[in-house]
Amino acid sequence: MVIVQLLRSKPSGVTTVAPSTSIRELLDVLADNRIGAAVVVDDDRAIRGIVSERDVVRRLRDHGADLLGMPVERIMTHDVVTCSTTDTVEDLMSVMTNHRIRHVPVLDDDGRLTGIVSIGDVVKSRIGELEGERDDLISYIGTR
Ligand code: AMP
Repeated sequence: MVIVQLLRSKPSGVTTVAPSTSIRELLDVLADNRIGAAVVVDDDRAIRGIVSERDVVRRLRDHGADLLGMPVERIMTHDVVTCSTTDTVEDLMSVMTNHRIRHVPVLDDDGRLTGIVSIGDVVKSRIGELEGERDDLISYIGTR
C-alpha cells in the first residue's frame, strides 16, 4: 500500500505549531488532539522541525517546570525525516525503524506538507492487510 492510500483512511490535516509556541501550549495541543508529535512550521507552512512528547519528557529532566515556558524551537528536532505520497507503507516501516522515530510528515509533489503518518497508522494498515490476506486464504481453502 502506498502512503497516499493510507492518508485517505484517516482524517485529513496535520497538527502544526509555530516555533514560538510554548511547551505548555504544545502539551495542550498534543492532549487535545490525542497525538504524540506536532510538526513545527513557520508562517508560510515551511517545515522548521518536529517535536514529540519524548522531547518534552527528556528535557523535563534537565529544566524541570521551567521547561513549560520555553518555546518549542528550543527542544524540537531540526532535521526532519519526511516521506512522499508515493512511498510504500513498507518503506516507512524501515524508515521508522532505522531512525527510531514514530512520526513521519508526508510531502506532496511540490514539497508541501500534506499529511503525517504515525507508527500507529502503520500498524493499523498492516493489520488490515494481513486480515485481508487471511480472509482470502480462508475463502480459497473453502473453495477446494
Ligand atoms: P517519536 O518517536 O516520534 O516520539 O520521536 C522520537 C524522537 O525523534 C524525538 O526527538 C523527535 O523529535 C524525533 N522525531 C520524531 N519524528 C521525527 C522525524 N520525522 N524526523 C526527525 N526526527 C523525528
